[in-house]
Amino acid sequence: MPHLAEQESVMPGGIMGHMLRIDLTAETISVEPLDAETARMWLGGTGLGARLLYDEVPAGVEWDDPENRLIIAAGPLAGTKVHGAGTYSAVTKGPMTNLLGATQANGFFGAYLKQNGYDGIIVQGRARRWLYLFIAEGVLELRSADHLLGKDTWETEGALLEELGYKFRMLSVHGIGQAGEHLVRFAAIAGDQGHVAAHNGVGAVMGSKQLKCIAVARGKQQVPVAHPERLTEYADALFEHAYEFRDRWLARGGTAVGLSDLHKLGSLPVRNYTTSIYPEHEAMNGLTFREHFDGKHTPCWACRMNHLHTGCMTEGRKKGYVGEEPEYEGFAAFGPQVGITDQSAAFWLSNLADRYAVDLNEAGWLLGWVLECVERGILDRERDLDGLDLKWDDEDSLAELLRKISLREGCGDWLAEGVMRAAQHVGRGAEALAVFTKKGASPRGHDHRGRWTELLDTCVGNTSTIEATAGADPVDNLPVEPVKNRFDPIDVSRFVGQINGRRQFDDSLGVCRFDSQDLLLELHTFNAATGLSYSPLDALRKGRQIVHLMRAFNARHGLTAEVEEPSPRYVSNPQDGGALDSHPEQAWPIMKRNYYRTMGWDEDTGMPLPETLRELDLEELIPAFA
Ligand code: SF4
Repeated sequence: MPHLAEQESVMPGGIMGHMLRIDLTAETISVEPLDAETARMWLGGTGLGARLLYDEVPAGVEWDDPENRLIIAAGPLAGTKVHGAGTYSAVTKGPMTNLLGATQANGFFGAYLKQNGYDGIIVQGRARRWLYLFIAEGVLELRSADHLLGKDTWETEGALLEELGYKFRMLSVHGIGQAGEHLVRFAAIAGDQGHVAAHNGVGAVMGSKQLKCIAVARGKQQVPVAHPERLTEYADALFEHAYEFRDRWLARGGTAVGLSDLHKLGSLPVRNYTTSIYPEHEAMNGLTFREHFDGKHTPCWACRMNHLHTGCMTEGRKKGYVGEEPEYEGFAAFGPQVGITDQSAAFWLSNLADRYAVDLNEAGWLLGWVLECVERGILDRERDLDGLDLKWDDEDSLAELLRKISLREGCGDWLAEGVMRAAQHVGRGAEALAVFTKKGASPRGHDHRGRWTELLDTCVGNTSTIEATAGADPVDNLPVEPVKNRFDPIDVSRFVGQINGRRQFDDSLGVCRFDSQDLLLELHTFNAATGLSYSPLDALRKGRQIVHLMRAFNARHGLTAEVEEPSPRYVSNPQDGGALDSHPEQAWPIMKRNYYRTMGWDEDTGMPLPETLRELDLEELIPAFA
């Protein structure tokens, strides 16, 4: 008898075998089987979500069409003993790019979904009234959400804990804040007090369906795994490695621990790219934060990483405000990017953004762009900004603008369209100052002029944000040379093209990336859970299949090479700092072309060649690129 790994019809371990389908138009819930072939081919998370989106959302369906799908999928490791395995992917056609969006949130939701017997949720249709979905043992119900309207994500979670009678952390609530209710184009889905699926307006899609949130109680079902003892052993080894990784960087100061290093490299976004110098970088980094923060440890599902904390800062202009320790992106977006020099002010703004549930990356670029436009006289306070006296390093006026955007009130209405569309709305040269990709979304919170791997990845990726890279470039256990010169366009694009797939494999497992920093250990864990036998090259290939499936969806929905471009400001030559005169604008066309070539795509159109798809066993996708 062939080994489990060879048996196509055998369900891999880690899979519950059921999907929930929520039809909001009909207000019905059905349970559908997830077949072994699909689970083996697309795993879960982003891979499974992309498959379902490709199959169910044809060309012509726009992001706010009831026929669009919002797919929330855990992965085979979610809910197991693997540390930090509470992650899910949200996959949809998103409003920022009107192409695919795939974005992850950690926390508890993915684990609890599995413990109730489900691998994912497919949301379709549009409700005639505001609803929320409640999942618990023996309970699958759509309920009125009228009483939750106008609440932010923390308030919504608190209200449902009380209403449904659960203790904190026994119920995971992920949904939209005011921004999603008002269809802010860059609205996010957030839950578990600060865990955010941020990109490509997934919260606007949820809002367009009149679904306020999904509440899932901790369940009792065991996730079936192939080799339980082996899984425990490898899961512990994977976590221990992640804990010690890079001198315990995450445990020492969270993801903002490297903020000063980014400043040195010219990779910290400062005042909307008008400079790369931020003298206050040490006062804004993660190590400083921990010295001035009085909080308690609030980790995700089964995670012992000393990463997340909830509490208040003991110093600064917003001393005493209670919130969650921001990630690096929160400090970057509401610190240097908007000229804020007080860490407690950045902490406060970041928490407000998570509560309204907006993508704080886009919000930071938007506010910084507004401030520069005011400074240059392109935007007038009275004429354009409802009289708001906006200034760099002034958190109160920025918070008021963020509130207006989240409610689409006054000038907040056109600003709620995000950086690219707001700049086009203003005209008068405002577009030249705006940082965005021509697909429609802004990048993560770095100055990518000092980080060309992510500049390229952001523009050519299929998810609306980075697809191949993430922070430190991952080359572990793969025959891929790391980047030798970060300003060599051929070296950078060769690397991004060769490594692409690694991260999409990760995002299909249902586990936090921070808890999985070694591919070989990750695969020992994955193989023990699923009974499959992946090598590092198998994982890379699987990820590349997912990348090409996402690209097929995007091609079918109108993607062209013309929009895989940075805005002029995004790729402008830095005038100071660690990337001074690196001239990314000259390197850009070389990088893009070489990336397409490395991926096995047409160098002009960026569409995969038939032989590339055949090599990946994806012949079925060839017509999507015709
Ligand atoms: S490392 Fe941080 S984000 Fe990841 S699971 Fe642990 S606490 Fe959550």
